[in-house]
Amino acid sequence: MKFYQILIVQQLDFLIIKEVFMKFRKDFVTNSSSSSYVCEICGRTESGWDMGLSEAEMMECVNGHTFCNDEALKRPSKKELIQMILENEWNKDRWDSEIRDNRDFTEEELIVMEEDDLWDNFCSESGYYDVPECVCPICQFIEYSEYDLSAYLLKEYGVSRDEVFAEVKQLNKRRRKLYENEYITYVCKKFDLNPTEIVANWKEKFGTYNAFKKWLRG
Ligand SMILES: [Zn+2]
Ligand SMILES: [Zn+2]
Repeated sequence: MKFYQILIVQQLDFLIIKEVFMKFRKDFVTNSSSSSYVCEICGRTESGWDMGLSEAEMMECVNGHTFCNDEALKRPSKKELIQMILENEWNKDRWDSEIRDNRDFTEEELIVMEEDDLWDNFCSESGYYDVPECVCPICQFIEYSEYDLSAYLLKEYGVSRDEVFAEVKQLNKRRRKLYENEYITYVCKKFDLNPTEIVANWKEKFGTYNAFKKWLRG
């Protein structure tokens, strides 16, 4: 065997051992599960055993968008937060551990709480899950997910995904599915559109992310 062949064999051995080890973990560590998170804005991917969103340094908004912590928009001030909590269903029937019952909190009680606690306990799930639309760049139409943009283009310009997929398959016969970015590129080229310009108009056109989703479904 030549030297480089030995190297390849060793590499393969290592991979097999690694795979067996991973399988062992999967089979025997019952509470362990593999999770992976993808930022819908920059595409960063994190995966690991029993990994939570916080370890991945990402958060998920109420509309299900996942994005990096450092891409989140600025949190409202404490004063604004309290206003939001009081006006929102966030303050309806909250669990109070002191009296072991549910109740609404008053403005005076909220004012003395730490800003982070307000955020983690009232406005989101532990600060990472179900964060409100105001900090999500996708909900605010500052960034977009490829999934949303391709759904928008499909409805607005009516180019079938089959048409685009046929084109992709001509170049790569083994391909089994169409990627969102391929659909976007195809339609934008066909109608001379600019994705950033389209998304910049959504705020004016739809106002809120929910209105946008409703339009997509309609
Ligand atoms: Zn990101
Ligand atoms: Zn969002």
